[in-house]
Amino acid sequence: MADSDAEYDGEGPDEDDVMEVSDGGRRAMASRPKERAQARWEATASSNWELQEAADGSIEGILGGLEEAGKRKRLLKDTTPLQRGIIRHTLLVLDLSSAMLEKDLRPTRHLLTINYTIMFVREYFEQNPISQLGIFGMREGLAIRISDMSGNPNDHIAALKQLRSTEPKGNPSLQNALDMARAALYHTPSHGTREVVIVLGALLSSDPGDIHDTIKACIRDRIRVRIIGLAAQMHICAEICRKTNGGDENYYNVAVDEVDYRQQLMDITTPPVLRSTDTEAQKHNQAALLMMGFPSRIVEEKPTLCACHGNLTRGGYLCSRCKAKVCNLPATCPTCDLTLILSTHLARSYHHLFPLRNWVEVSWTRARQEGSIQCFGCLTPFPRIPNPQEAVNGTEHDVASARTKRAEGASESSRYECETCGQHFCIDCDVFCHEVVHNCPGCQSNAHLPGNQNGHDAG
Ligand SMILES: [Zn+2]
Ligand SMILES: [Zn+2]
Ligand SMILES: [Zn+2]
Ligand SMILES: [Zn+2]
Repeated sequence: MADSDAEYDGEGPDEDDVMEVSDGGRRAMASRPKERAQARWEATASSNWELQEAADGSIEGILGGLEEAGKRKRLLKDTTPLQRGIIRHTLLVLDLSSAMLEKDLRPTRHLLTINYTIMFVREYFEQNPISQLGIFGMREGLAIRISDMSGNPNDHIAALKQLRSTEPKGNPSLQNALDMARAALYHTPSHGTREVVIVLGALLSSDPGDIHDTIKACIRDRIRVRIIGLAAQMHICAEICRKTNGGDENYYNVAVDEVDYRQQLMDITTPPVLRSTDTEAQKHNQAALLMMGFPSRIVEEKPTLCACHGNLTRGGYLCSRCKAKVCNLPATCPTCDLTLILSTHLARSYHHLFPLRNWVEVSWTRARQEGSIQCFGCLTPFPRIPNPQEAVNGTEHDVASARTKRAEGASESSRYECETCGQHFCIDCDVFCHEVVHNCPGCQSNAHLPGNQNGHDAG
């Protein structure tokens, strides 16, 4: 991290208080032209035009394949078990400047951002039940507080809904936002991650001082910054993200459309990988133990005051250390600061550490070998396997070759195989199992039936 500081050479338009994209072009704003190939969003912008008709001139197979390939591309994550920070402290910073009034994302950038952010908050706590989130905004050159750091999604959603009626105004200030985020993350414990996610619609940042000092301070405080741009790439954003992520350039992206924007926000709900160089804290903190309480729900005959809000409630959870009553879990005990969670919350974080392995595409040959006729998960029939004689005669061959030409990434036989249990699944089950249940139905049913290892054609 220190060396990335040293390599700063003061180039570019970012030395003034107001940084503006002078060029205006999307392509030109390379963070560093010499070390940069094509940005991810540039690749997706062009790929949609590369539609090719099938052999018989129909476009249906290709479109179906494209859709499947799209779903699949989203799915194919790196499934290597890595050390991840499952206790996260994330600050979401929304741009509330006048640039958010633009209507290039429908209905407006502002309203779409609020809708997506609400979805993001739900998903974030679904995926990271023992993490904390806070939301800030950037408006009229200032950073404003929308909701405080907390583990309760409803607080954030209520605050976001109120934001709908406000009008975006003025310029954003990245420096003010980062400084405020630093202050808010300063007291967070060292075992958790410190992340700042900025959604930036404007092409400028109106700062009171030198933002490079702030970047250095962020690195010192081991804050990782991620930025989603809504307009075009900006040099200073690329620099902030690169420097605070140890030189990794993948943390700054520009959303090309609504779908891409949503996807990028949702990607952030996966806990970040811990880098080996990450924290000094980690060195003397390796496998540090964290104290947690697992209270059970109690029901009371007479209402009593809760320690978190001071409301009269019947029942709740008693802190396992000091017996203070809290309404909801997960929470930090307001009296003794113990982290209180349910064991199911911990279990939900488990799949990030040991993800379900990706399923592989099944070739016609493999499908013939297995003879799979329907999806093991939902019993949807698969397309018929062309048999080898017909293929030679050319009747089924065309169908098969048309299928083979389906978009890159989609399986030619529309089947996906779990390599552990050997069952075949359709694309929808593939998506559902990897994104929602995080388990393989084939492996799970084998687990309950010892000795039934070869039941491939069952179903
Ligand atoms: Zn309460
Ligand atoms: Zn307590
Ligand atoms: Zn299925
Ligand atoms: Zn399986």
